[in-house]
Amino acid sequence: MASPTYYECKACGFYTKGNFSNIAYNLNDEGERIFVPHARNGPFDGYMHQTVCLDCLHQFKLDHKVDDLKCISCSSANIVRTHLTEGKPCPKCREGIIVMEKEEGFSI
Ligand SMILES: [Zn+2]
Ligand SMILES: [Zn+2]
Repeated sequence: MASPTYYECKACGFYTKGNFSNIAYNLNDEGERIFVPHARNGPFDGYMHQTVCLDCLHQFKLDHKVDDLKCISCSSANIVRTHLTEGKPCPKCREGIIVMEKEEGFSI
């Protein structure tokens, strides 16, 4: 099993939760999304991705195929999947560079 990852700015300590794969979910009868932990075999109704807002730094899960591509907190469209922040300037302090870290037992 792959190690959980997170993405951290060494300059200010800001970090985002990573995910080592898509987060699969199925819809129940009420249309609610039920996450499928450690999903291996599909098909599933959809996949969520750990996402961060580069404007307000809010972190949330989003299905980038069917959900509105905007922050659920501030409605900014300036959002990105957390793994795409790797190697980019920190959205918080704008001085550090985001690097990927692995941590055993780090839960998402
Ligand atoms: Zn936001
Ligand atoms: Zn920073």
